[in-house]
Amino acid sequence: MTPDLTRRLTQKLRAIPDYPKPGITFQDITPILQDAALFQEVIDAMAEPFREDSVTHVVGIEARGFILGGAIAAKLGAGFVPVRKPGKLPWETVEQSYELEYGADSLEAHVDAFPEGARALIVDDVIATGGTALATKDLTAALGASVVGWAFLLAIAGLDGTARLNGAPVHTLVSA
Ligand code: AMP
Repeated sequence: MTPDLTRRLTQKLRAIPDYPKPGITFQDITPILQDAALFQEVIDAMAEPFREDSVTHVVGIEARGFILGGAIAAKLGAGFVPVRKPGKLPWETVEQSYELEYGADSLEAHVDAFPEGARALIVDDVIATGGTALATKDLTAALGASVVGWAFLLAIAGLDGTARLNGAPVHTLVSA
């Protein structure tokens, strides 16, 4: 991970004011994904800190976590487990609820997502408050896997979401 990569990622991120609702600035990573060389660098840099951690499964959070998580799983020689919004997975699921600023939401994974002894790396594109990432850890742990860490492309500055994640290392490429 070089300062130069941080700079190039920051340049390519597209901040969209008031999307999906007023007051939210959406950080769009699609310009990064479109750039073949940069996409490759992102996958390498997100996987690198966990190379020696015997990761058996990458857990990707719907939906942009699937794009990064699938590629990171292939890089680490790990399997991939999707974590999705309720009602999207076809098989029997386990659900994890979490608090939002107003109200609550939940996430699901398949009951048989992990074999015994699984070592999971949780991946998403963006961490904001950290609620989604924390709920994914609880869901992963409830399904019997150990969480070896979290990898994000971007942390939203000023929200300190990564401070809520404990018990395993957290790596992010940029903050904006
Ligand atoms: P949080 O639970 O608050 O950490 O929110 C994280 C989830 O919401 C991730 O799946 C992100 O993809 C998405 N998200 C939250 N805030 C933003 C943002 N400003 N731009 C893009 N995605 C976001």
